Formats: sequence, C-alpha cells, structure tokens
Amino acid sequence: MSDVMIETSGLRKAFGSLEVLRGVDLRVGRGEVVCVIGPSGSGKSTLLRCVNLLEEPTEGKVVVDGAELTDPDADLDAARRHIGMVFQQFNLFSHLTVVENLTVAQRKVLRRGRTEAERIARENLARVGLSEKERAMPAQLSGGQQQRVAIARALAMNPHVMLFDEPTSALDPELVGDVLGVMRQLANDGMTMLVVTHEMQFAREVADRVLFMDGGVIVEQGPPAEVIGAPKQERTRTFLARVL
Ligand code: ADP
Ligand code: MG
Repeated sequence: MSDVMIETSGLRKAFGSLEVLRGVDLRVGRGEVVCVIGPSGSGKSTLLRCVNLLEEPTEGKVVVDGAELTDPDADLDAARRHIGMVFQQFNLFSHLTVVENLTVAQRKVLRRGRTEAERIARENLARVGLSEKERAMPAQLSGGQQQRVAIARALAMNPHVMLFDEPTSALDPELVGDVLGVMRQLANDGMTMLVVTHEMQFAREVADRVLFMDGGVIVEQGPPAEVIGAPKQERTRTFLARVL
C-alpha cells in the first residue's frame, strides 16, 4: 500500500475561458489531515470536486488510493465508493428518517442487506453522537445535527478518504463546535482528510498541513504554525489579516 492517498499533478480546470485551477500539485499522505484555505473564488471547491472527478479536469492527473481517476478506462463508481464527501449543504433526503438516510447508499451501492446496513448505520450514528435520533426526520434536527448525520452517512460507506467542503459554513455559530468535534475525532482515528475550511482554529489544531490557495494555484503550504502563524507570502498575510 502506498503512503500517498491523494495525488494530483499538473491539475488544470477551465470553465470556458475561465481558468480556475492553473496547475495544482497536491499530495495527501495516508492518515494525513490537510486543510485548504483561501479567498472565495480561488478554486478550493473545484479542486475538491476534481479529486473525485465530480468535475473533469481539463489537464493533469488525479490518483486516489492507487487508482488513476483521470485514466479514461478508470472505474469511477468503484473509486468513488472509497471517497466520502461532505458539503456545506447537508443534502439529506428530507422524506427519509435519519437511519434510512444512512442505509440507502449502503444497500444500493454496496449491496448490503437491511440488517447489516442498519447495524453499520447505528455504529456511525453513535460515532457522531446521534444514536437517539435514528428515527427522527432531518427537518426535526438542528443544522449541526444534520451535518453530523451527513458525516455519518459518508462514514457508513467505509471511505478511505474524506473530503469536506466548508462543512460548517452554513451553521449557526453555536452549532459549529459539535461538527468540528466530530471531525477532530475522525482525524484522531487516522482518517485521511482534505478539508476546505474558514475555521482557522480548527486548521491550527487539527491539520498536519495547511494549503493556501489563491488564483487557482497553491501559493503556500506547510505546517499550520508556519502558514497561519508565520506566513511567508504577502498574499497569505493579506488573506489572514482579513479572516483572523
Ligand atoms: P472557491 O471554492 O475557492 O470559492 P470555486 O472552486 O467554487 O472557488 O470557484 C472558482 C471559480 O470558478 C469561481 O470564479 C466560480 O465562479 C467558477 N466556477 C466554479 N464552478 C463553475 C462552473 N460549474 N461553471 C462555471 N464557473 C464555475
Ligand atoms: Mg467553495
């Protein structure tokens, strides 16, 4: 098994004449937690979406867990099974209970039987602290609880890597901590994580490495104490002065 879990090389993405990613070389090691920071429009979400080929790169290579997703013959469905993704909007099925939200993909995609899928659903609801909510409907939950359900749903698929795109940005401030707590636990458990976030405190405490993106390139990267604590690049300093 390779120690590299995610690798992009020469990754470029354009929408028409708009060049959003302009050559991104990213490496995330097995068990590593990498936080991506940067201004709005810098290409953070596009980078994440290229990692699981929700967006098709214009140029360059994406390898996740040893599989080259940019290979025209790649089995994308198989590769995506091992890539969990959590968005700003929780995207729960509003007409299904919490436990049903966690079993649908397990049954359809992984072909698990009902009993096994429900057992794994309960294990993961316990992991995010929501065992008592399994029969609730999403609308009965707070935003923070809904996001924790979305995380549990991703975990129920046994991902090898988790991608988070601003998972706490849509939450009321008092609900952010519980979601970050679940993510912190996940990091401690050894999950490989690529996290786009504006939560600088989280990045400082949990990330092994922080990437600062601007204008579709990685401007600066390194340990959080360096990139957030003592940035070398002017663009990083300007950004941090605005958000800290
Ligand atoms: P970030 O997540 O850093 O805010 P994004 O990756 O969402 O940045 O977007 C980077 C740029 O790409 C923005 O200018 C955005 O408008 C543009 N963009 C993103 N997705 C699309 C799309 N599907 N079609 C056209 N433009 C897009
Ligand atoms: Mg974004």
